[in-house]
Amino acid sequence: MSERCAPASDAKTIKRGTSSSNAYAASIEAQKRNPYAPRASDFLSDISNFNIIESTLCEGEQFANAFFDTKTKIAIAKALDAFGVEYIELTSPATSEQSHVDCEAICKLGLKAKILTHIRCHMDDARIAVETGIDGVDVVIGTSSYLQEFSHGKDMEYITKTAIEVIEFVKSKGVELKRLESIGWANPRQVYELVRTLRGVVTCDIEIHLHNDTGMAIANAYTTLEAGATHINTSVLGIGKCVGITSLGGLVSCLYAANPEYVKSKYNLGMLQEVENLVAEAVEINVPFNNPITGYCAFMHKAGIHTKANLNNPTFSPPFPTIDTILRHRLTGWNAIKLCVEQLGLKLMDDEIKDATAKIKELADVHTQSMDDVDSLLQVYHLGIQYGKLAVGQKEALDRLLKQHREAKESNEA
Ligand SMILES: [Zn+2]
Repeated sequence: MSERCAPASDAKTIKRGTSSSNAYAASIEAQKRNPYAPRASDFLSDISNFNIIESTLCEGEQFANAFFDTKTKIAIAKALDAFGVEYIELTSPATSEQSHVDCEAICKLGLKAKILTHIRCHMDDARIAVETGIDGVDVVIGTSSYLQEFSHGKDMEYITKTAIEVIEFVKSKGVELKRLESIGWANPRQVYELVRTLRGVVTCDIEIHLHNDTGMAIANAYTTLEAGATHINTSVLGIGKCVGITSLGGLVSCLYAANPEYVKSKYNLGMLQEVENLVAEAVEINVPFNNPITGYCAFMHKAGIHTKANLNNPTFSPPFPTIDTILRHRLTGWNAIKLCVEQLGLKLMDDEIKDATAKIKELADVHTQSMDDVDSLLQVYHLGIQYGKLAVGQKEALDRLLKQHREAKESNEA
């Protein structure tokens, strides 16, 4: 990360140097607007000053179903660039002839995002990488006692000597150098302590690459930014080896909660679904139903208490899409039904909407009501009121009108 030391430390000096009463007051004000915003006490936090190193075309290639051809890699790289990630990381060109060709092809696209490649801490890999036209390298070498003993078998003296040799070569070629950490089993407190300790002794950028073995990759990424990390590795839908790494959409959703304006200024959020669908199709999986922001259920509310809060204040849950998926269900409250009435362009008084809601709940106790079922009921209710055939509380009249509507529909379909 040595290339970026000066700007990063300057930025931090400015930010941390202003933890005066002004900054404190601004922080309190921000907390009032958004309780998820960083606090004044988070003086190390980079929640509002970070870069994404997108690794779908590197880590993601290790996903069980991933076999990206050149055309697919280019499509994914262009989509990630349009979304606005700052860096795109590619598989090392030293891995295979095809990886070499693909790396050169993506470097020639002229994307706004900087192109990195992930290489072993080895002079041959470094030489091949810098010749492809990449902007930077992520250099990896295992330093843990386990890897020293059971994997590469090299001791710390050898690791240090090789690392210095590779780093000096890469820097001499004017290529950015990133430092990489990879932690699959750590929890948020552990990664916070680790990065905070590191932040205490270095002023350069800190890049973090977090595996999701225990389902904490997003939480760990967020926490490391709070501790002063500057660059986070992600992949689309979190794909990677085993259960993958920090997902792009998941990280963006929790960073959005902390500072929506900053995240909106950096990324084209409307493109997230397109990027995820592109990758899901390429690796033949579905976007998980519980995926943050874009999952099938991401913004579905059944209980009236939640729908009311959402309708009155769309920031109650992260306001990415509009609330157009309120489920017609026995748990639905009248506020959600009021929204349906407005969407249908119908004019009903609140007591009439409450009356219609009671009927929807009654029907939903028997079986789930589809969007069309509820819309039809509201239209029938509205017509009944309009033509004086129905008033609030006239259950039998409403049942009669619904029966007539059902019969007319069936005879039309016959
Ligand atoms: Zn990894």
